[in-house]
Amino acid sequence: MINHEENLKKAIALSKQSVDNGSSPFGCIIVNAKGEIIGEGHNRVVLDNDPTAHGEVVAIRNACRNINSFDLSGCILYTSCEPCPMCLNACKWANIAEVYYAADRFDAENIGFRDRVFYDDDPIVLKRIRLNEATAIMQQWKNKPEHIEY
Ligand SMILES: [Zn+2]
Repeated sequence: MINHEENLKKAIALSKQSVDNGSSPFGCIIVNAKGEIIGEGHNRVVLDNDPTAHGEVVAIRNACRNINSFDLSGCILYTSCEPCPMCLNACKWANIAEVYYAADRFDAENIGFRDRVFYDDDPIVLKRIRLNEATAIMQQWKNKPEHIEY
């Protein structure tokens, strides 16, 4: 029986470790279907100058390295704070279908993080310039017999 609260507390402990290490207060663990921890991480945005190094992304990378796969189907992710849209989508790419979190987007906003607005609006300029060579290279990959879809 997987104890969700216990696992969440481990993610929170990593958020504390993150603060102690000079980064932001976000930690994450990933367990497999048996409840074994296969990956963990805490936020490294400031430490690595990497805006994508949220705790969830760091933990997904760690878990995938540990099990030598890009597929985390059946795994559960525990994170100290509600995943931002980037991390939710990272979960989808990793085939993680179950996520537990403790603090939420409003708690993050209260300490100065912008997560909440990212859920609501999309201020990025997103325009398509159709260049056929882009899709030609995609088709080249698709036609390779050894290509691996995910
Ligand atoms: Zn995130």
